[in-house]
Amino acid sequence: MIPKTKYDKLEGCFLGGAIGDAMGSAYENQESEDSDTYDPFPTKNPAKSILQITDDTQLTFATIEAIIESAKFTPAILADHFKRLYEKRNIRGLGASTLKALQELEAGGHWSQVGRIGEYAAGNGAAMRIAPLSFLEETDRTQIRDISSITHRNDEAYVGALCVVIALKEILNNQWDGSTNLLSIISSQIPDSRVKDRIQQLETLTDLTEIGSYGNSGYVVDSIPLALAAANQIRNLDLDTIFNELIEVGGDTDTNCSIAGQIAGCFVGKSNFSSNLMEKIKSIPEYESLNSTLNKFGAKLKWL
Ligand SMILES: [Mg+2]
Repeated sequence: MIPKTKYDKLEGCFLGGAIGDAMGSAYENQESEDSDTYDPFPTKNPAKSILQITDDTQLTFATIEAIIESAKFTPAILADHFKRLYEKRNIRGLGASTLKALQELEAGGHWSQVGRIGEYAAGNGAAMRIAPLSFLEETDRTQIRDISSITHRNDEAYVGALCVVIALKEILNNQWDGSTNLLSIISSQIPDSRVKDRIQQLETLTDLTEIGSYGNSGYVVDSIPLALAAANQIRNLDLDTIFNELIEVGGDTDTNCSIAGQIAGCFVGKSNFSSNLMEKIKSIPEYESLNSTLNKFGAKLKWL
């Protein structure tokens, strides 16, 4: 399973993330009642049969649009894109930290001051939207921290976002080929933190149910190591199975599936998505618009 081109990896990343978000959002914070009856298109609740993307994908694509439309991508430009998206009142499933930041941006707040601080700012909301930065040649840790801090002024939230960028960079630069452990590669490159401790705890585990028992919530220490460990399983499992197992694990299923989908999707490339998964992706109401944004993003990236 080798992606055909770099653009194939780009599409795999962002469409993998979008479908993970959409599949997971139908099950966010629901208890799994019976693993034998899991059905991604439950007939009992017709509303859930529509695969709908949420804030994870919406803010990720707002970030891509900010990159496309700016000569020099900055936190101020991104904050302005976030504000304009928020003004449309169409962002689905916003977390508390991101909502606070968007409300204050709308009221005229400066991007560096509106993000939540303190222990309640340690959510996965910065990591869930950071992936586009992995595709920039000139990204550095200061930029990742600043972009994260628009909504989450918290060290753990920043490390979570950093993990996602490192994982994707490893794949884009052909440094991780699936023969080694992605978690070890990431943990060797991040600062000491609770996120790092958790990643190290999960390093040798392969069973996603066991991995999920360490934590599955939207707390960055739970969510990011879980999503990374799930993506790491793309060596043994296909993407469809990874999503289904992560949904079974429960908790913040949309973000967990979205981040795992970005990383594992980038690894295999869209050309290796199953026809079943492609059908689901094409059923997302915003599919055409997502595709068109990815086309423009690909055209903007000179190295691609
Ligand atoms: Mg969401």
